[in-house]
Amino acid sequence: MNDLVIDIKNLSRRFGDKQALQDVTLRVPRGGVFGLIGSNGAGKTTLIKHVLGSHYAQSGSVSVFGFDPVADPVEVLGRIGYMSEDREVPGWMRVQEVIDFTRAFYPGWDSGYASELLELFELDPKQKTRSLSRGQTARVCLLLALAHRPELLVLDEPSSGLDPVIRRDILTAIVRTTADEGRTVLFSSHLLDEVQRLADRVAILNCGRIILSDELDTVLDSFHRVTLRFDGSSDLAPSLVGAIESKGHGHEWTYVYRGDREQLIRAAKSLNAQIVHEVPLSLDDIFVCNVQRS
Ligand code: ATP
Repeated sequence: MNDLVIDIKNLSRRFGDKQALQDVTLRVPRGGVFGLIGSNGAGKTTLIKHVLGSHYAQSGSVSVFGFDPVADPVEVLGRIGYMSEDREVPGWMRVQEVIDFTRAFYPGWDSGYASELLELFELDPKQKTRSLSRGQTARVCLLLALAHRPELLVLDEPSSGLDPVIRRDILTAIVRTTADEGRTVLFSSHLLDEVQRLADRVAILNCGRIILSDELDTVLDSFHRVTLRFDGSSDLAPSLVGAIESKGHGHEWTYVYRGDREQLIRAAKSLNAQIVHEVPLSLDDIFVCNVQRS
């Protein structure tokens, strides 16, 4: 991973007595879609704000395109398209005025693409932004983040406020197209089906710590729910190497297992157990199981 767009090392952040981020190390390679997953208050927005240089690193370091976003905002911010969780736009402007205003900051603004998005999102350029619905405001924000075709698109909870059609079809298409063009998308979400649909890589944040970070396929391949049948009956789950959760009774025990299949077969054999059922875990299950454990 030589070509890193974001390289965060041992980042910690405290607000008063609240530890919002703790020793976070995160690498986002160029190209592809990176999904940042976490429960409410896990630290997703705080992490994103460090990427944008809105927060300085109290300890550790943050590098975006090889620059420190606090020390070199000009090198960094012009190359990022950002949709904030708050979806803030000046209420006294009309949609077209917000677009013109934002365009002035970006030499690479693509007016043709902005017009296409305006139509795709069914926005009226003459409408005052104050009178837009929450979903329409989200569409304006998405347009503003996209129309200068940024090298890095940062979306904080992009689905929040968007209806299912925009979310499932249009957002998916936009995110995938951005990645297919060799650009990078970092988005935060607690909608696990969405992350599973969109992301190439994922990281799980829990209480300010990264508890898992890898390619999505690797994550999905490494967790299984497996039921073993043992010769002897037991009141306690027989200890299976790689198991992170267990339940059952007597001869049959079901485990959440982390590891590859070969290892599982070897581990079962060493216990004289038969694998009677095995299913991969969804990202949702993997998230819950890892958060509970940590
Ligand atoms: P959500 O999914 O609810 O948006 P999140 O994962 O984005 O949550 P953050 O907004 O990063 O979480 O917040 C992480 C923690 O840091 C929370 O406990 C939050 O209350 C705290 N926090 C964030 N910003 C501040 C701030 N400016 N001052 C004080 N505490 C803050």
